[in-house]
Amino acid sequence: QITVGELLSFFSYITMVSWPMRQVGRVLSQMGMALVAIERIDEILQAEPERQDGNPITQRLKGEIEFRDVHFSYNGETSEKVLEGISFKIKPGEKVAFIGPTGSGKSTIISLLVNLYEPDRGEILIDGQDIRTLSRRSLRKKIGVVLQTPFLFSTTVQENIIYANPLAEENQILDSVKIAKVDEIEEVLPNGFHTLVGEKGVTLSGGQKQRVALARTLLSQPDILVLDDVTSAVDTHTEHSILQALEAPMSDKTTLIISHRITSIQKADRILVLSNGRIVQEGDHDRLVGMEGYYREIHNLQTTLEKEIHGVK
Ligand code: ADP
Ligand code: MG
Repeated sequence: QITVGELLSFFSYITMVSWPMRQVGRVLSQMGMALVAIERIDEILQAEPERQDGNPITQRLKGEIEFRDVHFSYNGETSEKVLEGISFKIKPGEKVAFIGPTGSGKSTIISLLVNLYEPDRGEILIDGQDIRTLSRRSLRKKIGVVLQTPFLFSTTVQENIIYANPLAEENQILDSVKIAKVDEIEEVLPNGFHTLVGEKGVTLSGGQKQRVALARTLLSQPDILVLDDVTSAVDTHTEHSILQALEAPMSDKTTLIISHRITSIQKADRILVLSNGRIVQEGDHDRLVGMEGYYREIHNLQTTLEKEIHGVK
């Protein structure tokens, strides 16, 4: 039994207490969000600034590349090693191919070459200069890299190509378009080069995107050309004709080719075979085929496959 007065004060206390109690719930849920936000802010605050930009490269690069005992891991020296003591020297104008299983570190070598990351140990030299002393911007201008999964802007095919060099002349554009065999796609595109490419190039097939990206890189007239699994999504025939068309314009320029197809790298001056972040074999096609190892295995596998497809016994 309680009095009317007690009942009244009981209810007014209840209303007073319920609002703060509900607030506690809200604060708890907001706290979770705040904790996540703090973590992200902290990531930015803790990020190490890139080193000061070095000297711009004003001359044409001769194209000599040297890796000296390069060690690298993506998340600091304590994490898993991706490259373990990579050393090689590429002469100006040499055509060098890299082959090796997925995850062996081929693309990582390219990322280091254009200084997207810094090696944990060792040195990378271009024309005898440590790349740490060079300006990143001009380094990336002089080295043309075509990636496996190219990025295309949501605009016309033509704009996607000429953005590499907006001042290019008509015949330069036509040349690079021809070499990359983009002109063959054109027949498929309803408005030719003015056809709009969808977001991230969804309206083009993988191989067509790669060809547009190659034309774009060629147009920027790099001194060193790097093809990272570029022709993986085009058929063998197209790949062959692209590589053949590349021979003349790249004849005096250093070219690095990463590919899984023996047929596309067998003409290279030198082939480096990578496995688990180390160079395990080195030599030209004939030498590597004559040796026990990964290269010969892949070679035998691919030639057998090829024969089966074409029905040759
Ligand atoms: P490949 O091009 O030979 O297939 P990659 O150089 O892409 O090999 O990768 C080598 C190794 O580094 C793989 O184990 C891969 O998982 C790892 N790796 C590649 N990129 C990154 C990254 N951005 N962050 C962390 N690990 C990475
Ligand atoms: Mg790769």
